[in-house]
Amino acid sequence: MIRLLLFFAILGALFYAALAYGRHMIRRWQHSFTQPTQQKSLGEKLTQCPYCQTFVPTSQAYQAKGRYYCSKEHANL
Ligand SMILES: [Zn+2]
Repeated sequence: MIRLLLFFAILGALFYAALAYGRHMIRRWQHSFTQPTQQKSLGEKLTQCPYCQTFVPTSQAYQAKGRYYCSKEHANL
């Protein structure tokens, strides 16, 4: 009887450990999915001006001839 009790105690401990580890892995897995979206909202994608090699945020860059420039002047050069 004691052996059976001990067996179930070990089984319970193992199950609890597996559950805790599973939760930890799921959290890590979810974190890996949420991280790129957070980076997307925080930092904007930068594009390099082909003329002066300056990096500018895509939303602020001047688009001409299918490329991104830091300013209208550089796009016209
Ligand atoms: Zn430029």
